[in-house]
Amino acid sequence: MAGRRRVLIVGSGAAGSAAAYCLTRHPDKFSVDVWEKESLPGGVATSTDIKHDDFINDGVQGGCATYRNTLNLMEEHGLTTSPVHMMISFGKGRTAWTNYTKTELIERLAPEIKRFGRCLRIINKLEFFFIFIPIYKVLKWFGFSDEFRNEMVFPLTALFFGTGNQTPNVSAAIVARVFLDDDLRLFDYDSERLLSQTPEMFAFPKLDKMYQAIMSKSGANFYANRAVKVVRRVRGKVYVTDENDNEEVFDNIIFACDAETVLRVLKNPSFMERRTLGNVRYYNDITVTHEDDDYMNKYYEVHYDKDQYFVRTDPTHRDKIEMSFNLSNYQPQLKESGRNVFQTIFLDDKMREIWTDKEIKEEKVLLRKWWRQFSHTWRHFAFCVPFMRYLQGTKNTYYCGSYTLINTHEIAIISGFAAALRLGADYPFPQDKLASKQFDHYMLVIHGRPRTWGCNKDSVLAVVMAPCVAIMAFFMLIVNFFMKCCCC
Ligand SMILES: Cc1cc2nc3c(=O)[nH]c(=O)nc-3n(C[C@H](O)[C@H](O)[C@H](O)COP(=O)(O)OP(=O)(O)OC[C@H]3O[C@@H](n4cnc5c(N)ncnc54)[C@H](O)[C@@H]3O)c2cc1C
Repeated sequence: MAGRRRVLIVGSGAAGSAAAYCLTRHPDKFSVDVWEKESLPGGVATSTDIKHDDFINDGVQGGCATYRNTLNLMEEHGLTTSPVHMMISFGKGRTAWTNYTKTELIERLAPEIKRFGRCLRIINKLEFFFIFIPIYKVLKWFGFSDEFRNEMVFPLTALFFGTGNQTPNVSAAIVARVFLDDDLRLFDYDSERLLSQTPEMFAFPKLDKMYQAIMSKSGANFYANRAVKVVRRVRGKVYVTDENDNEEVFDNIIFACDAETVLRVLKNPSFMERRTLGNVRYYNDITVTHEDDDYMNKYYEVHYDKDQYFVRTDPTHRDKIEMSFNLSNYQPQLKESGRNVFQTIFLDDKMREIWTDKEIKEEKVLLRKWWRQFSHTWRHFAFCVPFMRYLQGTKNTYYCGSYTLINTHEIAIISGFAAALRLGADYPFPQDKLASKQFDHYMLVIHGRPRTWGCNKDSVLAVVMAPCVAIMAFFMLIVNFFMKCCCC
């Protein structure tokens, strides 16, 4: 069809697939190509066959009821989820606690648990300030003990934002949101036990099938095993070369891959692109999927019929965390098989000397898989997030992916919708209040604009926020410059 804009989406993880879904709903406006480095769509949302004819979703597991954009997208494709009640076992022996029983540690730390509620409310009220302060600093300022920080707050934070073993450096405002944000909170803060609920979550269906269904139904031209090598932006056009040196020309490009890849393939990235994307910090983590009960019982309190999540602190580095999962209490096909399939994630390969992965018996290992994930340190919210808006749309280029804000499946989906909307697609789920509220929020923060300009609250907010964010961003550029100088 003549007059259609030719758009390339680089990467087909949750973000790229969501962008493809949105754009292809307008076949009269867009011709959409998706180039994917791997053989399947889905990005980090993958499945693997394991012995005895079972499969597992080998990384991404599930989400909560507030993942409205993800859930709507799945519903559109006839995909169903399975309910799970989140049960977590933290620590071992004297440091053990859970979200479903009272333990000795909870009783010992009762006064601090009570005080933590006040601290969360202060952080939440002054979010604009605390977004730039790491949680470990705030806990120190408020006089919390090492035991409370290392055994309760850091393990709990790691559960949601632990990538790269950077838990102490996670932004305090992000931690407060887990408890206090009306739309996002997973747990109500409990003044006696910290956590006392087992919130209902959902487990994804087989993820490789899910993403193949979304991509094939979209009708986008999907090219697997086609990695982008070079991107040149010249006189209003985008010239893209793949690894076989084939070049094609597009009107727009949506980068739905990681920030490191963007900077590697972009010819002549702007100052802002280098600064913003270069401030996303990635770490190497490995998951070992295994059936080693001895390992699990040595390091965790295992309640076989209950827990999906296990978190422990390293005895020598009390602020470093290891996490495990009982996938059989998460994924329905494993529940039915009667097996206990565990997964342990070892974070940040620079801390390899404290990893205990060698203790997992080789014959019990089902799968080892490396991941490269960004961390949620305060720096991410200071030096990357506020600047994303200044990149969007410049030189016919848009950016999506969970790294633009927070490492969740829901944010990845929302970010893909947002990039598509900026190109002229409609937001697909306006009838769902919570889905659209979260989408609008993302639009304001990451694109600096409302879903539609007009006489509405978000337009006013966008206009009012613009100079404030500009001043803050300028200030952050200076801070970042001095920090870099000090490091040199
Ligand atoms: C192990 C693990 C477990 C997780 N568990 C959960 C969970 O339970 N719940 C939850 O909400 N979130 C979870 N997350 C986070 C969430 O799933 C991710 O943030 C989200 O799926 C990322 O989607 P994305 O599209 O932003 O990036 P990705 O999924 O990383 O997609 C990027 C895509 O770009 C492609 N690509 C890269 N370079 C190129 C190139 N040069 N050319 C073409 N294509 C390229 C990649 O192959 C990939 O397909 C988990 C993440 C990980 C890693």
